[in-house]
Amino acid sequence: MLIQRVYEFDMLICPRCSGQIKIVAFIEPPQGDVIEKILRHGGLWCAAAPRAPPGGDLRNTFVTP
Ligand SMILES: [Zn+2]
Repeated sequence: MLIQRVYEFDMLICPRCSGQIKIVAFIEPPQGDVIEKILRHGGLWCAAAPRAPPGGDLRNTFVTP
């Protein structure tokens, strides 16, 4: 309600279809396994592509012409 008042934006209204958004959980990090479980249950999980570790060598990450 405070966010709606400040930003004049209702977070519980879907911007695509104007339907009511239902909050299913409040998750605080680190709970990646819980997020994955919820998204898998809803058929929304998409495995991330592998990426270089932080501070890693990025020279082979991108293909250059
Ligand atoms: Zn929607």
